[in-house]
Amino acid sequence: MELHQGTYRIGGVPALDIARRAGTPVYVYDAAIMERQAQRLKKAFSGTPTRFMYACKALGNVAVLKHMRSLGLGLDTVSIQEAEIGLQAGFTPEEILFTPNMVSFTEYQRAVGLGLHITIDSIPVLERFGHTYGADVPVCIRINPHIMAGGNERISTGHVDSKFGISIHQLRHVERIVATHGLRVEGLHMHTGSDILDTEVFLRAAELLLEMADHFPQLRFLDLGSGFKVPYKPEDIATDVEDLGQRLAERIRAFNAQREVPVELWFEPGKFLVSEAGVLLVSVDLIKQTTATVFAGVDSGLNHLIRPMLYGAHHGIVNVSRPAGKPRIYTVVGYICETDTFAWDRQLPEVQEGDVLAFLNAGAYGFSMASNYNARPRPAEVFVKDGKPLLIRRRETVEDLLALQVEQAL
Ligand SMILES: *Cc1c(COP(=O)(O)O)cnc(C)c1O
Repeated sequence: MELHQGTYRIGGVPALDIARRAGTPVYVYDAAIMERQAQRLKKAFSGTPTRFMYACKALGNVAVLKHMRSLGLGLDTVSIQEAEIGLQAGFTPEEILFTPNMVSFTEYQRAVGLGLHITIDSIPVLERFGHTYGADVPVCIRINPHIMAGGNERISTGHVDSKFGISIHQLRHVERIVATHGLRVEGLHMHTGSDILDTEVFLRAAELLLEMADHFPQLRFLDLGSGFKVPYKPEDIATDVEDLGQRLAERIRAFNAQREVPVELWFEPGKFLVSEAGVLLVSVDLIKQTTATVFAGVDSGLNHLIRPMLYGAHHGIVNVSRPAGKPRIYTVVGYICETDTFAWDRQLPEVQEGDVLAFLNAGAYGFSMASNYNARPRPAEVFVKDGKPLLIRRRETVEDLLALQVEQAL
């Protein structure tokens, strides 16, 4: 969203026009920002063959998936349902990676049936997979390198107690299973969490995978997952993808020079591609002065954007209706009957009832984590592409909520 001659615009369209036409709350996504981010990644890694699989759990609307495919990206899915939606959006099975955690073997069998790339992240599943498919279906193995990514325990997946991946210390065990069943290991995978600040952490992870690669002669790719950090606060540091791309590409080129089968680099960015592209537009329903603060209550809540309450995440807030208003301090809260705070003591241009506010960086894990808590319908979604806003999901209604509720003999 940019402020242009006193008016906030999304992909060139005035944000207030979108709020008026679609109503609030509404998620709005800017296709051009997704494209910019995708091009940035592709350019940064142009030094070595690299594939980017968009992690659609960040934002799974079919229109967005189609856009990602048109940008030349594959798809990373963590459930069979995401994969099915990906196929609906036009991805071929070869373009889809299935990277679930703690799912039933039946779900893996369905993924094999669809022809997806399969990532396995536990010893028992690897063993059963080998027993069932042997050399017929190639696999990618998810390793837990025990590298801590970022400082946030709740979004780091690489620590010792993590439920993700097969411990790097179980490599011998993995090798025995692979040898016993003649498994074809086509990829090694590592995703240590969603907030890697430091290129060094990526490089260390890559080094570990490269060391292991020697044990798997049929390897075709190294998947470094994601972890591309995006700035949420103005002072936040983002991952330096250009530096990372250059250094990793150099390392992979050197590695491939002495290898019979060259390896590709794969990544699974979610947040990096869609976070900045999205805003959640809400309306202010009530200004309430208490002894402690001034609350601005909006027509949304943790049911629509749970990141502040779940992760303590910071989202920038903009008063779309009054960009030049006098600055005052507000605590912005939602309408859910729980502690439901978007931001404490945030300075905003004077807010009046009826104003439209925008939560920034809401493209990733916004709508995709939304729920119907308090029987609140989920928001509409709008996609702005080539200067045109397109409704890509209509707002839910109470009828939608009731439609699935039945009373029938079981
Ligand atoms: C969530 C997830 C991603 C995407 O992470 P972002 O932080 O959104 O980039 C990638 N790979 C796997 C396996 C994931 O679970």
